Amino acid sequence: MVPVILALGSNMGNKEENLKKAVDLLSGIISDVKTSSLYLTRPVGETNQDIFFNMVLKGYTNLPPFELLEKCQHIEKKIGRVYRYHWGPREIDIDIIFYEDKVITTENLKVPHPLMQERDFVVIPLLEIDTEYLHPVLRVKVKDLIEWIKEISIVERRDF
Ligand code: AMP
Repeated sequence: MVPVILALGSNMGNKEENLKKAVDLLSGIISDVKTSSLYLTRPVGETNQDIFFNMVLKGYTNLPPFELLEKCQHIEKKIGRVYRYHWGPREIDIDIIFYEDKVITTENLKVPHPLMQERDFVVIPLLEIDTEYLHPVLRVKVKDLIEWIKEISIVERRDF
């Protein structure tokens, strides 16, 4: 079993319900799941869309990285994700942030997720989960990633 960290987001439909379903389904393929609070965030990139509910999850898996990606995409579909456009609104988004200490740079899978350190809605929930996790490319612990955040988009924290 290896540690993995995933980031989840939703800005369509019943956002909290979508996230709860995702955590539930992910718990079928990931052990010892630990979740952060919910963070309500202004959309970045394409800003003309509804507010996002974001959270982060840590657990352990024996699935190889590409199988984990495939399962995550299957779970997204099961929850009703419809692809609209890049950065567009989504019922659910599941991103692999870290996979053990692996660095993967393929077209379909980039780990660590390339923009994670700039995103307050990834770094801040991650601080609730594991401050000591080492970013294998930047060689910086999660607790020090706070300095890499580009802009604050979080507007509210809620218990999950
Ligand atoms: P999105 O629209 O954010 O759901 O992006 C999905 C696309 O990103 C898929 O085609 C994935 O293959 C690709 N992708 C690349 N790296 C990752 C990652 N670390 N986690 C999830 N999807 C990824």
